[in-house]
Amino acid sequence: MADLIEILAAQRDPAERIGVFSESLHAEETEALRELEKHALEKGIPIIRPHTRGLLQCILEMKEPGRILEIGTATGYSALVMYTYAPSPCSIVTIEKDEGRAAEARRNFDTFGAERIELIEGDAAEILPELTGAFDLIFLDAAKGQYIRYLPELIRLLPPGGVLLTDNVLKEGEITASKFAVTRRNRTIHKRMREYLTAISRDERLRTVLLETGDGAAISVKRRGVQ
Ligand code: SAM
Repeated sequence: MADLIEILAAQRDPAERIGVFSESLHAEETEALRELEKHALEKGIPIIRPHTRGLLQCILEMKEPGRILEIGTATGYSALVMYTYAPSPCSIVTIEKDEGRAAEARRNFDTFGAERIELIEGDAAEILPELTGAFDLIFLDAAKGQYIRYLPELIRLLPPGGVLLTDNVLKEGEITASKFAVTRRNRTIHKRMREYLTAISRDERLRTVLLETGDGAAISVKRRGVQ
């Protein structure tokens, strides 16, 4: 606690202070998940941070999803968080295009005995149109520049009341900066992420809220009674 107080005192920026503080209030994690998280971070694989884990745990309790779709498996950490903390048995379909990560995720699912997780290897842009049935929760955590392309399929796959959680939407605040302040390399992603945020905020089939904590997340709920 003394360490945390010192770290907080050193943060001049209130947003950073809030970040450090909320990350310190870690959401629950099992020993097996902690090991997986450590391993992914050591290898530099970008996985969800404690804030998003906490958000997922809350949504799982609120929504009690029967069927979940994840776009962006990496090594399977977030899929296994959802599998572990879903309040009742659920099935998960998760999509990953990187062959090496998909293979590692399969091994991790086996180790956890996660029989109700189905991993589909390939590009989400090609796989999403093939999916049928409804998903009560969709967790979108892949290449940010592609989200706007996926949106029509995601809305199709959500039932009324279904939840779409999109991670890392604010890119450490960069999304709110003028496009002229963004490096040329990041301009396309900046533009597409803004288009995506505008689309999920204005689409009359969705109710969306943006959360600033962590790297930013958006929660969208498909409205009931709106086609
Ligand atoms: N959700 C994971 C977790 O927290 O454990 C982390 C996912 S990581 C941020 C994003 C993953 O999306 C990467 O492993 C990347 O290979 C994958 N990805 C990127 N573009 C994709 C695409 N078009 N289709 C499928 N997977 C994609």
